Amino acid sequence: MPLKDLQKRKEYTKQYREKNKEYFKNYFETNKELLKEKRMKKPQEYNEKIKKRKREYYQKNKDEINKKKRERRIKNKDKINEYNRLYYQQNIEKMREKSRNNSKKRRLSKRDQLNEYHRNFTKRLRCKLRLEALNKISNNDLKCINCSCIDYELLEINHKNGSGKEDRKKYNSTDITFYKAIIDGKRSIDDLEILCKICNILHFISFKYNINKHKIIYIESS
Ligand SMILES: [Zn+2]
Repeated sequence: MPLKDLQKRKEYTKQYREKNKEYFKNYFETNKELLKEKRMKKPQEYNEKIKKRKREYYQKNKDEINKKKRERRIKNKDKINEYNRLYYQQNIEKMREKSRNNSKKRRLSKRDQLNEYHRNFTKRLRCKLRLEALNKISNNDLKCINCSCIDYELLEINHKNGSGKEDRKKYNSTDITFYKAIIDGKRSIDDLEILCKICNILHFISFKYNINKHKIIYIESS
């Protein structure tokens, strides 16, 4: 094999390509479709391999490639602008349709983003207010007053005399306003207490059916 040395061979190929630049360019241009077909016929793994190699090469030489791209764009600014102008004129309907679609997509995605932001904001606010309200009711000793459960996710505000329904109606069932009323002192906490979900059910049952035969024990994990 001529030029066993890889470096030399690379150099030679580069020179050869440079010398026959026009030929290669023409060849690629005229056989574009054929080459594409050929490529598609190759096994899937081969294409994946090439893609992977390209990706790796790009990641490794990212800065250089982007710098060159930028330079090329600046150098050929007029040419690119002229090409774009011509292309737009020739495909005016297509381009208009595209821009309409794009702006619609942007509008929708912005709305989604806003909704997402709002949802997250409300979620965070609710978490913060819930903690504050629970702390106020428990006088900063946050646990279930029945079984001493301290698992925060399980703790709830219980209405001692079962007036939860009225509160839900009054505060439009959004807990944020309810928590706020508690924190601001607009809602008295005399009839409120902290219970875990399980004790809350027990409280509900004993309140509704007057059954007082159950006991809940919370086992603290060691
Ligand atoms: Zn409990």
